Amino acid sequence: MAYSRPLDNIRVGGEIDAVCTRCRRDTNHRIVAMVDGRIKRVICLTCDSQHNYHQPPGQKNPAAVEVRRVGKALKKTLAPQGGPRVFAMWIKGREELAAGGLTPRPYRLEEGYQAGEAIEHPKFGLGFIQKIIPPRKMEVMFENDIKTLAMNAAGLGGA
Ligand SMILES: [Zn+2]
Repeated sequence: MAYSRPLDNIRVGGEIDAVCTRCRRDTNHRIVAMVDGRIKRVICLTCDSQHNYHQPPGQKNPAAVEVRRVGKALKKTLAPQGGPRVFAMWIKGREELAAGGLTPRPYRLEEGYQAGEAIEHPKFGLGFIQKIIPPRKMEVMFENDIKTLAMNAAGLGGA
């Protein structure tokens, strides 16, 4: 059985961009009938009119529609790893901080910290402690980057 992800939506009940005969433009449609794997009848989600499927001008096949949908999906979930995820979590942390009326603790090498604390680093700015790496390091998420910082360095002599 042929199965390809870009065509997931091409089924009865799926949504697709199509030319609406009443709206006279591309609108979202729900597929109501298919014949031999081809879309036959659709309902316009804008005006509720049911009509035969017309492909949007310039589109050769349904897969072309999916290219735009992939873009939408990416925007919703963000990248599962790397910069965008860090950035989104950081923004959320900052919002929670502001909502709670809290101020981040100034970062000092000599002091001890705990995971979950917010700190203000003189160079990197606002950061959230992700993880403590005993005995004297911690992983901190800054706006665009996760950095390992030293902590609890009091009495080490060299600090
Ligand atoms: Zn319509």
